Amino acid sequence: MGNYETLEYDVLIIGAGGAGLRAAIEASVAGVKVGLICKSLLGKAHTVMAEGGVAAALANVDDRDNWRVHFADTMRGGQYVNSWRMAELHAKEAPDRVRELEAWGAVFDRTADGRILQRNFGGHRYPRLAHVGDRTGLEMIRTLQDHGIHQGIEVHMEHTIVTLLKDGQRVVGAFAYERERGRFKVFKAKAIVLATGGIGRAYRITSNSWEYTGDGQSLAYHAGAELVDMEYVQFHPTGMIWPPSVMGILVTEGVRGEGGVLCNKDGQRFMFSEIPENYKPQTADNPEEGWRYTQGDKNARRPPELLTRDHVSRCIINEVKAGRGSPHGGVFLDISWIKEKIPNAAEHIKKKLPSMYHQFMQLANLDITKEPMEVGPTTHYIMGGVRVDAETQMSSVLGLFAAGEVAAGLHGANRLGGNSLSDLLVFGKRAGEFAANFAKEYGPGQTHDAEIEEAAREALESFDRAARGAGDAENPYQVQSDLQEMMQNLVGIVRREEEMTRALDGLGALRKRSQNVAVHGHREYNPGWHTAIDLKHLLTVSEAITRSAIERKESRGGHFRDDFPNKSAAEGKVSIVVYQAADGSMQVRRESILEMPEQLKQVVEEMK
Ligand SMILES: Cc1cc2nc3c(=O)[nH]c(=O)nc-3n(C[C@H](O)[C@H](O)[C@H](O)COP(=O)(O)OP(=O)(O)OC[C@H]3O[C@@H](n4cnc5c(N)ncnc54)[C@H](O)[C@@H]3O)c2cc1C
Repeated sequence: MGNYETLEYDVLIIGAGGAGLRAAIEASVAGVKVGLICKSLLGKAHTVMAEGGVAAALANVDDRDNWRVHFADTMRGGQYVNSWRMAELHAKEAPDRVRELEAWGAVFDRTADGRILQRNFGGHRYPRLAHVGDRTGLEMIRTLQDHGIHQGIEVHMEHTIVTLLKDGQRVVGAFAYERERGRFKVFKAKAIVLATGGIGRAYRITSNSWEYTGDGQSLAYHAGAELVDMEYVQFHPTGMIWPPSVMGILVTEGVRGEGGVLCNKDGQRFMFSEIPENYKPQTADNPEEGWRYTQGDKNARRPPELLTRDHVSRCIINEVKAGRGSPHGGVFLDISWIKEKIPNAAEHIKKKLPSMYHQFMQLANLDITKEPMEVGPTTHYIMGGVRVDAETQMSSVLGLFAAGEVAAGLHGANRLGGNSLSDLLVFGKRAGEFAANFAKEYGPGQTHDAEIEEAAREALESFDRAARGAGDAENPYQVQSDLQEMMQNLVGIVRREEEMTRALDGLGALRKRSQNVAVHGHREYNPGWHTAIDLKHLLTVSEAITRSAIERKESRGGHFRDDFPNKSAAEGKVSIVVYQAADGSMQVRRESILEMPEQLKQVVEEMK
């Protein structure tokens, strides 16, 4: 076997965003040896980009809020296909996780009487998002890192896991390359927590950064774990659309929470004509009431701009298709109009939305205190992922846990804004705790040299091809770009069976091309090589999304089918599970969703 540096841990955490850091802290507190790995630099995870806030029913701004309302909002937003147990745990535990973050030093914005301030966000009945301006993720990561560093966690930055290592049915380690020197490393572990985030880079227009190529979902799948709900991809309604170089960059929902409105090219607030039946009782039917809501009037209902993301995205697409879009194919998001309502509006906007102000000034040369922004939907989040046990976060593979965006269940068919950051805290903690318990209970497993050698061979194939000078070799960037374009066009916001079947054929062809990519140069800091390795993950998650989306013959949440535009009661009772068959092929299975217990059904009814 190659002479690879080998490190041993009780618990290995793959991913250093909010979920990974929170899991690492909890496992360390339990007294086990913890290793934490991330693909880029510590602190550069997606979590740092989170803007709007973290959802928790603290009831600091509106004392009518409590876990029951948060639970009901999460289930309604997820269109009732969520794991109700995860939604219950999340709603009950999020307030403690946020207070704990405060105790560890997070400096949230404050109410006049000094408590954590909470803001409005789509789908949340009351102001619920604890925030730090529009830089909440930065504060969260900073606090978790500061706290975690003192727990003795060993951090390995710029290391990418390419394969999980198994001993029979159990996961016992992971195989990585180090970005800086291109060397391989073996990490042995009694338990592993996947906290690798999302899949946004499977699409051309996305708010996600280069790291989010579905690694965790794919690593778990290839290790024998099941994926679930992969058809539910969230297209956030407001991404930048102009200039082209910044297309997809997120414009936080906080803009709408602070009073921003969506208008078409005729200046019409089109969202008022598209309020779904089940949201009518809690949605304002006139602009004045909507404005009062954003200013904290407890008797007002929220404006339709704050309906769930899936719905707002589709309304924007409809406006564009009807020829009422903005010059670059989106709609207008206007916060500057609030100068009609409040004095010093420009200062107010800069204080509440500092990042948005700078983002548009620097990237689009546009002053959002004076002019409307041009926005359109962007691939943002995946509700589906690794199927986990609600209490422990263990997957269907022994010793393999998953938390945060890589795991499925909490958000159902559509995630509410702010519910991801609280998800990371609640289930990151749980994953760390139960992974540590597992590590204490089980001895070390045995890694197998043949498996490690095969992983190394596969990772280096693209160099060998270049060395052989294969004439028909492919460029990894070209294959990646073709895949993104195809997923955007054929398995995007509006889906049709015929197009998705074409996408499946296309994925087959892209897989063949990916087996023919060649990479030149050295192993040190070679992004072409890394792209070649990531292709396997991108192809795996894209196939899982496509197969699941074909299988679900209805429209629900993030999954909208032109050929089945309505919700179906029967389809709403099943989950689509993805797994690898013995012959290596990807299979999907339908499984009944566990019925909600009576007391939770009552909560949902009461809150309707
Ligand atoms: C612009 C933007 C704004 C957002 N705003 C909000 C908001 O206001 N509120 C909210 O609730 N949610 C928000 N979200 C969503 C939320 O930020 C993410 O869902 C969440 O941060 C994901 O956290 P995570 O811990 O699961 O993973 P991430 O924070 O994505 O971290 C993943 C980690 O895994 C590592 N990794 C990945 N693959 C590998 C590999 N193969 N080997 C080793 N390491 C690997 C990465 O390097 C990284 O360290 C926003 C997202 C974006 C993109």
